[in-house]
Amino acid sequence: MVTGNRVGANTGTGMTDTAEKTSGGCMCGAVRYEAIGAPISTNYCHCTSCRKHTGAPAVVLIGYKLDQVTFTKGERKIYESSPGVGRAFCDQCGTPLTWEGDGGELGPLVEVLISTVDNPNDFAPQGHLHHAERVSWFETTDNLPRYRVWDDEAPYLTAPAT
Ligand SMILES: [Zn+2]
Ligand SMILES: [Zn+2]
Repeated sequence: MVTGNRVGANTGTGMTDTAEKTSGGCMCGAVRYEAIGAPISTNYCHCTSCRKHTGAPAVVLIGYKLDQVTFTKGERKIYESSPGVGRAFCDQCGTPLTWEGDGGELGPLVEVLISTVDNPNDFAPQGHLHHAERVSWFETTDNLPRYRVWDDEAPYLTAPAT
C-alpha cells in the first residue's frame, strides 16, 4: 500500500507495515538492496557533506535501522566522511547510496538516498535537517519543519525561508 507520508513512528492507520518492502540500487545495477518495514524517518538534508557526496544542492534520506536493510547484490564501497560515519557508493558507476552511522538511542542506522529507491514517490519528506547550512538560492515551497541542525529540539522555521 502506498501512502503519501510514511512516518515510521505513527503509522497506526491499519497499514501492515511489517510486510512493506522497499528495493533500490545504483545506476548500473551492480549494487542492490532491500529494506523491510516502514522507515523511521524521511528528511531533506542540506548539509555540506551530503552535497559533496552526491553533487546535489540538497538530498532526501530515508532512514532505516541497520537490521531493516540487506544488500542483496554486489558490494557497496564505504567512504568514512567523519569518524563513525560512512557514505556508501557503487565503485562501478559512482552512484551515492547511503549515509550510515550511529543513530544514538535508535542504534546503528542506514539511511538510503531517495535517488536510489525504486519507488521514490512513496516517501514524502517530513522535514529539513541542517537547513541553516543550505545553499542560499535553494529552497522548497513546502511548510515542513526546518531545523538548523539535525538534532535541534524544535524547528526554527515552518515555512520557506525568505
Ligand atoms: Zn553501480
Ligand atoms: Zn547531510
